[in-house]
Amino acid sequence: MSQVSIPSLSGGLERLKFDNSFVRNLPADPEPGNFRRQVRGACFSVARPTPVAQPQLIGWSREVAGLLDLDAEPADRDLMAQVFSGNRVLPEMAPYAMCYGGHQFGNWAGQLGDGRAINLGEVVNHAGQRHVLQLKGAGKTPYSRTADGLAVLRSSVREFLCSEAMHHLGVPTTRALSLVLTGEQVMRDMFYDGNPQREPGAIVCRVAPSFTRFGNFQILASRGEIDILRQLVDHTIRTDFPQLGEPSPEVYSRWFHTVCTTTADMIVHWMRIGFVHGVMNTDNMSILGQTIDYGPYGWLENYDPDWTPNTTDAGGKRYRFGHQPQVAMWNLLQLANSLVPLMPDTDPLQQGLDLYADSFQQGWRNTQMTKLGLYTSDIAADKTLFDELVAILMAIETDMTIFFRNLARVEMDALNDQIPALLIEAYYRPDQLTPEHVERTNAWLMAYAARLKSEGTGHEARAARMNAVNPKYVLRNYLAQQAIDKATEGNYSMISELLDVLRKPYDEQPEKEAFAAKRPDWARHKPGCSMLSCSS
Ligand code: AMP
Ligand code: MG
Repeated sequence: MSQVSIPSLSGGLERLKFDNSFVRNLPADPEPGNFRRQVRGACFSVARPTPVAQPQLIGWSREVAGLLDLDAEPADRDLMAQVFSGNRVLPEMAPYAMCYGGHQFGNWAGQLGDGRAINLGEVVNHAGQRHVLQLKGAGKTPYSRTADGLAVLRSSVREFLCSEAMHHLGVPTTRALSLVLTGEQVMRDMFYDGNPQREPGAIVCRVAPSFTRFGNFQILASRGEIDILRQLVDHTIRTDFPQLGEPSPEVYSRWFHTVCTTTADMIVHWMRIGFVHGVMNTDNMSILGQTIDYGPYGWLENYDPDWTPNTTDAGGKRYRFGHQPQVAMWNLLQLANSLVPLMPDTDPLQQGLDLYADSFQQGWRNTQMTKLGLYTSDIAADKTLFDELVAILMAIETDMTIFFRNLARVEMDALNDQIPALLIEAYYRPDQLTPEHVERTNAWLMAYAARLKSEGTGHEARAARMNAVNPKYVLRNYLAQQAIDKATEGNYSMISELLDVLRKPYDEQPEKEAFAAKRPDWARHKPGCSMLSCSS
């Protein structure tokens, strides 16, 4: 009888060291079958990826490969496509889907879980850092409910690019190693309007120290599974927050406080760069304070705090840009509620929520100052200055990213009664400029110039300070859509081109100036550019 030989591993795969602590330490669903069900008394179910027809690697992040000790550029792309589509499960992997619940749009939704994400295992790199590898779109699991467990190319390109863009922008986020086409077609009704179409299927390999969400704790509390809740909290503290010490009542408090401050820090970053998550349900909140689950997210173009990219959210606009700080607080409150069974003295939980509010306020105030290149804080004066700026930005359609970037270049000594040409570039509709708006803007510029003068900050120093927090390049909605349109036609070059530009979002890249351009008019109301839906 001839033996079937398995091709040997290369590209660093042969070096991967797995330590699958989640499945080792926490209770498993005893049912091995892959059918949808309510999973009680467990943190996860064993679930293998569904093999796909013809996996093809079309996106690869060398930085994430580096984190995992993989080769920066794999020589054998087919092998990587096999492994990161889930077709080839390595012997040390232990694939599983997590059980979690969540509040969706403010309502308790019960069990959700990894309905299309499968965790392959936890890699420990040469420096002892732990990273979970997770395939999104790898097929059905017990948590798939009525859906197919798959993901399409357009949403996978968006997740792949945005994860990496956010990282390079300095925002805490899950990462993305790879983007693989499955070679299969997936039916999707993009806007839930009765027009389903076949789209290319794809899988992203996401990477994070942990994919545990607020909802993992919530589901256990909601079912009264308090022993398991304690096990999950203890495991999370030991694995992801070892600096806090061995689990104890005090450590529980410190842990919740840490979750509150890291979440505040993440939200400050979102507000700094104009990122709108779009679906901040509690199942989409990472316990590590990382941005997670890139779905119907978007970037502010014209500065509009009421904007939400998510068509599912168009009615209540719960997840609009300006509401994100309050939603994060509400989500932390739901996490706190789920911890009450372990923390009968609820004072530390309340303190955590207060800490969130204070950390956000403090962080946001500092960020506002830095965005303007200011050093010293004069709380009342800064607030007036920033509030008036926001009012001005909102009054006529003004591109947030270009405005702040160009403001850094305006010579404050050369102001006159005209709006500087650099700022005019940020307007979508210069015809909206009224004499009142010009006057108001100039009055603001004068006040700002006076403030800078009182601090004695020179032009160069101010520009450097501002440019370090105001990005030149973000993943503009229309750019992601252009990369998707090309990829749909089989041209994947714009994916790597964008990945490359977004590696240095704060640097001037003169040959890449086109990627810093304002949204073109054709993209104003185009699906994918200004409107997105959940779960594609
Ligand atoms: P999301 O809106 O992406 O955060 O997803 C909410 C829930 O729906 C999660 O439990 C997902 O796993 C699940 N889900 C979303 N899309 C799919 C899909 N295509 N197949 C199975 N489950 C899905
Ligand atoms: Mg989700």
